[in-house]
Amino acid sequence: MKVRSVEIFDVDIDKDIAIPWHPVLVRVHTDEGISGVGEVGLAYGVGHTAGAYTVKDLVERFVLGADVFKREALWERMYRSSFWAQAGANLVFAGMSGIDTALWDIQGKALNVPCYQLLGGKTNERLRTYASQLQLGWGDEYLQLGTPADYGRAAEKAREAGFDCVKVDPIIMDENGDRMASHATYFSRPQLALYKERMAAIRSALGPDADIILEVHSLTSGPAAVQLANALEEFGIYYFEEPVSYTNSKMHSYVKDRTPVPLAGGERIFSRWGLRPYLEEQSLEVVQPDIGLVGGLTETKKMCDYAHIYDVMVQVHVCGSPVATAASLHLEAAIPNFLVHEHHSHAMKSYNVELCDVDLQPRDGYFEIPDEPGLGIHLNDKVLEKSARIVVGDSV
Ligand code: MG
Repeated sequence: MKVRSVEIFDVDIDKDIAIPWHPVLVRVHTDEGISGVGEVGLAYGVGHTAGAYTVKDLVERFVLGADVFKREALWERMYRSSFWAQAGANLVFAGMSGIDTALWDIQGKALNVPCYQLLGGKTNERLRTYASQLQLGWGDEYLQLGTPADYGRAAEKAREAGFDCVKVDPIIMDENGDRMASHATYFSRPQLALYKERMAAIRSALGPDADIILEVHSLTSGPAAVQLANALEEFGIYYFEEPVSYTNSKMHSYVKDRTPVPLAGGERIFSRWGLRPYLEEQSLEVVQPDIGLVGGLTETKKMCDYAHIYDVMVQVHVCGSPVATAASLHLEAAIPNFLVHEHHSHAMKSYNVELCDVDLQPRDGYFEIPDEPGLGIHLNDKVLEKSARIVVGDSV
């Protein structure tokens, strides 16, 4: 079965929200009439346009006419022959991801099995799930929370929806709910007091048994991360995500040596090669690879297995369209070092849900594993016709 054409959608949502949101979706068509979907993990940050065109370049050079069942050979060819991937280039791995994941979807459909079967079968029957990014509120409306009482209310909503695990970035919004303007080199006492009040409100809304993940999006220096971990430790931190920048892996060890709070990171680590220093330095307890950024399901599975030899747990990073959610559910069902599934605040927004034909939501804080062949998800063409579309190969 050969790749006949590829469609790339650079999604432009029809809604005014404070954070730009541009999922990049890929649909690969074969000469036997089966098609599959994947996602380039650049819905946020900058780079979605370049991500869409990187897929176009990869398809033109390596993918058209390729054998769908020689997925590993194609991955290696894209990695070696795209030139930049061997230097860890984020855009190339992101482009490869969209293509690779679509091939898994096609293989599953062709063999009439869900992707988790191809990944080794179910190790986990259902997946504990957390409510992610409470500083944006919890519900269909996009918010930016300021007061500690607002944080408490968001936690209460998540609790009522059945979650016993949440994640919050308590520093990214100032007291008025405006995004912080710069990287934090060192915190003042009033700043730390505000973050403590927010965490106290969340802990009190959730009760003593729930888990709270602390996240700061690499907005802190090493010293500021240590200040924060020490100030918030009393609220019971499940793990501390992205405490520092990834550009110097040793800064994770700096933080690790100065706090007992477990550390997590990985949404800006690309491929096994990128992960290597964090495992060898044993500076992370939890890794968070993004299937849309590291090289698709093929590479993410390898990174999870690699982490397993260091007893490092996995929480796949999920911040994309429902395609990203579907792919992560299949992988997390299969891996033995799965810890918890991320359900992002974006994942329940109507502008995101409507991009696909299935609304993937957890129930009572747990996700069931999709059982349809492949990834079990399809694009909603009616909604996507408003977005830019690139077609490579025979027109579809
Ligand atoms: Mg994060």
